[in-house]
Amino acid sequence: MTGIPRTHPRYHSLIARENIVEGVNKGITSMQGLVAQGRGECFDYLLGERTLPSALLAEKIASALLLLADRPVISVNGNTSALVPEKMVELASVTGASLEVNLFHRTEERVSRIISHLKSFGATCVLGARGNGRLDLEHARAIVDQEGIYSADVVLVPLEDGDRCQKLVEMGKTVIAIDLNPFSRTSKTATLTVVDNVSRAMANLIHYSREFENCNHEELGEIAGDFDNATFLSDAVEELMENLKNQ
Ligand code: ATP
Ligand code: MG
Repeated sequence: MTGIPRTHPRYHSLIARENIVEGVNKGITSMQGLVAQGRGECFDYLLGERTLPSALLAEKIASALLLLADRPVISVNGNTSALVPEKMVELASVTGASLEVNLFHRTEERVSRIISHLKSFGATCVLGARGNGRLDLEHARAIVDQEGIYSADVVLVPLEDGDRCQKLVEMGKTVIAIDLNPFSRTSKTATLTVVDNVSRAMANLIHYSREFENCNHEELGEIAGDFDNATFLSDAVEELMENLKNQ
């Protein structure tokens, strides 16, 4: 890793780049993942590289939804396993969710590398290698585990592609996306979208899940409430427009 000083004004963003590049070098992140990170960074810049109040509310609701779920699954890809491996493992443990590797550019080798990588951060069981379930999609991205994403009731999909997100919603699942782009198909089709950087979002999800860990169903239901995903997206777009106008 290059020695980036903590005092650098864009320290977190530069460290994320280092982690993503290291992910590629380790064979856990795809080259396409570098481009996806770039798109995310651009939106993060426009949003002020901070968690918006509306995103924090979405994170609070998302934590309640994960704790309320019967079969929650956290979907892991090459970017998230490079950026937030320990946070994925911790969130799964606090919420009782399963971790499942689900790749757009799937190779069996990359799936098994990511599983080993997550296990090195303390994960005990990581799904995704069996690939014995199919979503109604063309291409290897349709492959899921029967006992994981296929039969889940709530799925957390950080950095998902729009088609797959839509399929999961059509299957009747509650889909929580983390996506810095409020215009993406993923953001628009998810049940709930957290418009925030995955690093900050995961930290906040862990924080709220710990806070709500001992709440009963009724209390969790009240926290989740009746939300409208469109309001989270329009809030982010408004913030982005304000930032552009005030330049
Ligand atoms: P669509 O959802 O419209 O189908 P896509 O999924 O094909 O688009 P990708 O570039 O493949 O688009 O997906 C990556 C998405 O993840 C982008 O929308 C990008 O803004 C977002 N993203 C990338 N890095 C991060 C990050 N670190 N934190 C949060 N979101 C990120
Ligand atoms: Mg997307």
